[in-house]
Amino acid sequence: MKTSRLVLITSAAVVAAALPWLRADDSKKSTSSSNTVIEISKTAPEQPTGPVEKTDAEWKKELTPEQYRILRQAGTERSNGQVYEEFKKHGGGTYYCAGCNAELFSSNEKFDSHCGWPSFYDPANAKNVKYLTDTILGYERTEVRCKVCDGHLGHVFKGEGFDTPTDKRYCINGTVLKFVPNPEKKAAQEKGKEKSK
Ligand SMILES: [Zn+2]
Repeated sequence: MKTSRLVLITSAAVVAAALPWLRADDSKKSTSSSNTVIEISKTAPEQPTGPVEKTDAEWKKELTPEQYRILRQAGTERSNGQVYEEFKKHGGGTYYCAGCNAELFSSNEKFDSHCGWPSFYDPANAKNVKYLTDTILGYERTEVRCKVCDGHLGHVFKGEGFDTPTDKRYCINGTVLKFVPNPEKKAAQEKGKEKSK
């Protein structure tokens, strides 16, 4: 009896000792994921008809940790990261709020400011954004929020000399945007209509 107990204890110790390595290996796998960070959808999401209000627990459940940190805690994504690279590769399309689906920006007003974050010179649907001015960093900054869900999107800077119609730079966290590319060709849809007549 004594010997078999000893064997059991010894084998348990071996397993326990091996666990840290197993765990370390798992964590490596989860950080090397190559998934896109800007959600892309084929169809435009249904637009919210009124203010979207949720509890903190509900937001945490629905959003990714990074989206939650930015939208609900006014965080900022890493500059010149994967988000920026993905954003630069997008063609024509529309950007929606990842929190509530409200239409926010269009690729028509997108420009490359080389600042490391997605930049637009005007919101496509101005009624869905609101502005809050703060002086936290010692100078006046204008925060841009989604008017529908009150989510933090980024900041807007004026008069920087960019060659755009508004001379404004909406510096937006791409993580909190959903991208819907423009339909490939309208001609194909028209043909479909002709057939159904
Ligand atoms: Zn929103």
